[in-house]
Amino acid sequence: MAIVFGGASAAFVPRVAYRLSVAAGVPPRAACVACGRRFAAGFPGWCRAGAVCPHAGRRVDHPVPGTVVVSAAAAGLLAVTSGPAARLPLLLVATVLGVLLAAVDRRCLRLPDPLVALFAVVAGAGLAVPARLPVALAAGAVVGAFYLFLALLPGRGLGLGDVKLGAVLGFVLGFGGWTAVAVGFAAAHAINGGIAAWLLITRRAGGERALPFGPALLAGALIGITAV
Ligand SMILES: [Zn+2]
Repeated sequence: MAIVFGGASAAFVPRVAYRLSVAAGVPPRAACVACGRRFAAGFPGWCRAGAVCPHAGRRVDHPVPGTVVVSAAAAGLLAVTSGPAARLPLLLVATVLGVLLAAVDRRCLRLPDPLVALFAVVAGAGLAVPARLPVALAAGAVVGAFYLFLALLPGRGLGLGDVKLGAVLGFVLGFGGWTAVAVGFAAAHAINGGIAAWLLITRRAGGERALPFGPALLAGALIGITAV
């Protein structure tokens, strides 16, 4: 059931990710850039399974099958490792929010604050262990401070969106203890390094275009949560 939920709900991610992939302070997209058609007003304009727009073809499309497979696999992994716990529905909703965050970051190299905040609340509620709150707060502060330091270094490094998501994931992983934090962030950097190396080898690194770090951070956190 978790796999079906993860896959089916991720089918609705491309339209939402497309509309939210705008510069900071800019309202969500109201129309498809490729074909010019306006999206319906209100909820119907956000709710579409499959490709971003039926008329646009591949130009504005997000890889729908990939999104569905990744989300279904993540949801299945969480279900297998947590069992039929009361927190599982929250973790599954957090998974879809994480997939949406990764999709937006891939599109526009941004992790919008409201989306990160919503993810923090849902994932935090799903993983919270009251006795471990001090560790979670400390982990969030340590990761946030370290990433802020990296972001302030000159050159193309981390963005402030990565800093905030990193702090959130440090907090969330902290409920699993320091080992989960270490495993999660080591995995995130290994995944990011692997992707960067792959892009370099296949010469697909497109000049100025930086690699989004959000997807690797979220994937690493999933590993930290499920492996520890
Ligand atoms: Zn279109």
